Amino acid sequence: MNSTTRVLLIGAAGRMGKTVVALARNDRQIDIVAQCDLGDSIELAMENCDVAIDFSHADAITEVCRAALHHGRSLVIGTTGHSQEQRRTVEEAARSVAIVFASNFSVGVNVLFWLTRKAVELLGSDFDAEIIETHHKMKKDAPSGTAKTLAETLKAAQKTGHEIAIQSIREGDVVGEHTVIFSGPGERLELTHRAANREIFAEPQSRLDRMSVIASAICALHEMRFSLFQM
Ligand code: NAD
Repeated sequence: MNSTTRVLLIGAAGRMGKTVVALARNDRQIDIVAQCDLGDSIELAMENCDVAIDFSHADAITEVCRAALHHGRSLVIGTTGHSQEQRRTVEEAARSVAIVFASNFSVGVNVLFWLTRKAVELLGSDFDAEIIETHHKMKKDAPSGTAKTLAETLKAAQKTGHEIAIQSIREGDVVGEHTVIFSGPGERLELTHRAANREIFAEPQSRLDRMSVIASAICALHEMRFSLFQM
């Protein structure tokens, strides 16, 4: 598919918003036709786009979903920190419009999700798992969305129903680090991902064509960790 995708960027003034704008400048497949941030009408801005990318705040999600439903637009949601109720709003919207929802768009972290599941399978029940995540001091949510996805991945793989401990550290300007620690009798295994810049979270959106193809295949909620390895 060679046509340009018209994008509305929500949270355009933020760290991720600015990164997406900078990358899109050199990407002929993406045309950022509208940008909005706190105080702007998402509903109005959504009118003339094909896809809306949300890197704002969890509290924007009701308005984002309402606007997407009203205009019948696909959504790529990168924002984290949603409550259960806010997640249900996304799931409800995904019955009518296509949504790609990922707590982390980096390829490395999506491989980490896969490795985590595989490690549980290989190590078995003698190993306990916990997560440590570190981010910059300005990050609004804790634990990070990625740490929550890792915990969900561990719980689903372990099938014990035990809660997974997550330690969150907020310091300096760390872009993002996640470690899954498996502690067993006499040995420890650690899987770590370190983000060195924010482009790794925005570059997959340069492959928006693929994302929108995934999204428009059926009206449903797609998570990148599944899209990468199961489609
Ligand atoms: P940021 O605080 O730098 O930027 C957020 C921007 O959203 C700000 O400009 C803010 O004014 C704006 N905003 C807040 N509420 C809004 C609303 N109701 N409507 C419109 N705009 C609103 O944060 P960031 O570092 O750019 O991260 C943004 C989100 O993306 C966070 O939830 C973060 O955890 C998440 N994130 C996800 C990934 C990923 O790969 N999925 C990667 C990095 C960050």
